[in-house]
Amino acid sequence: MTQSDFSSLPLNSNLLKSVASLGYESMTAIQAQSLPHILAGQDVIGQGKTGSGKTAAFALGMLEKLEVERYCIQSLVLCPTRELADQVTKEIRKIARTTPNVKVLTLCGGVPLRSQSESLQKGAHIIVGTPGRVEDHLNKENLKLNFVSTLVLDEADRMLEMGFQPALDAIIDKVPRPRQTLLFSATYPDQIGAIAKRVMVKPVMVKVDSTHDSNSIRQHFYKVDDDAHRMTALRLLLLQHQPESALVFCNTKKDAQEVADRLSHYGFSAFALHGDLEQKDRDQILVRFSNKSISILVATDVAARGLDIDSLDAVINYHIARDSEVHIHRIGRTGRAGNKGVAHSLYSEKENHKVSLLGEYLDRSIGNDSLPSSSVLKESPVRPTMTCLQIDGGKKQKLRPGDILGALTGEYGIEGNQVGKIQIFDKRAYVGVHRDAAKAALKKLLEGKLKGRSFRVRMIS
Ligand code: AMP
Repeated sequence: MTQSDFSSLPLNSNLLKSVASLGYESMTAIQAQSLPHILAGQDVIGQGKTGSGKTAAFALGMLEKLEVERYCIQSLVLCPTRELADQVTKEIRKIARTTPNVKVLTLCGGVPLRSQSESLQKGAHIIVGTPGRVEDHLNKENLKLNFVSTLVLDEADRMLEMGFQPALDAIIDKVPRPRQTLLFSATYPDQIGAIAKRVMVKPVMVKVDSTHDSNSIRQHFYKVDDDAHRMTALRLLLLQHQPESALVFCNTKKDAQEVADRLSHYGFSAFALHGDLEQKDRDQILVRFSNKSISILVATDVAARGLDIDSLDAVINYHIARDSEVHIHRIGRTGRAGNKGVAHSLYSEKENHKVSLLGEYLDRSIGNDSLPSSSVLKESPVRPTMTCLQIDGGKKQKLRPGDILGALTGEYGIEGNQVGKIQIFDKRAYVGVHRDAAKAALKKLLEGKLKGRSFRVRMIS
């Protein structure tokens, strides 16, 4: 047994079984450093990047002390975005699989308050939500936090950046003391120090290196003359490298929309992701990007938070990020799970100051790599290999991935290896299908039945 074995921790056998069944062979750095304190009931500030395994760290802490037979809300997790809240809920449920009857409820905007109130009336042990929506439920007295003994502030820096401070204050005020407060944040600006001082008791600070292993991400920097050249440079990089999935970062919503529009105009499969989108459109774009029926997502930093997408082929910084930590965060999205990642960053004379700060931070000199030759501009952008089919039925109709896979690959159906990601929401389901098999797949779903009935199905790419 080594210090990074989960079995070195005072965890109950269900939880040890769970981490083993999930294939978590040893603790990540943030888990090894924080879990002993979390399990001892101390307040902990964890500073670490996305992908560090922080969710499992606080989930194990919460689940270890959860008293399942007491049917009341015992833990509250606050997250900046709905995507992150969904991701956190998923991870908690995964880890709780071996502990019977644990009820986790997500409370985020974008869905009617009423259906959430009904779920709240039925009770839950753990709430994961965004500050705005949690505050709404508190104000309506749908939600009582009297029995909460663990409070988690996840990606606290983003919550503050997004203006959630008043909502956070109002919520934290309602969580009784003594309690355990765990705060996770990728960066540690002064505001976080101030909030920690107000709401935590003698917190233990745990920091894991936020700089990526430079071997796992290749970084290229290109100097551009002006905005027109910047757009051309982006096209050159996309045409040359033909990524199946690429994330382009912009510093503003306006830029994100404009860049996505320009790329679409040039024939790329590109969509913008930013806070001004309707929830429905946002969900659909995320689904399509993750099932690879959209190849380029042009996003702001806030919108890209909590994106649960691994193995991106490339991250492109259309502008240099406003600070170096954000840059590290952005490029950390490529090269995940042992894949080698590539990050391309464009900068102009005006961004020289940010570039020199970034150079100091990364401890390397930032030069001017050569852009691909303009002859690639003659080529057409590659189309995504997958197409997305939308089925107008979901969890409410008890549809499961197996039903869809079965219907697609049954008699005279398409090959299993032509079916990609299947995602099921309350009233909708989406399935990625190889472009070559898309028509046959659509026909099969339209003519066949799912759970004994017909559903409306359409191709959305
Ligand atoms: P997070 O930083 O919480 O978003 O976690 C990143 C990913 O790492 C998630 O997909 C987890 O399921 C996974 N993970 C968490 N802890 C471990 C571990 N000890 N070993 C392997 N994978 C892990």
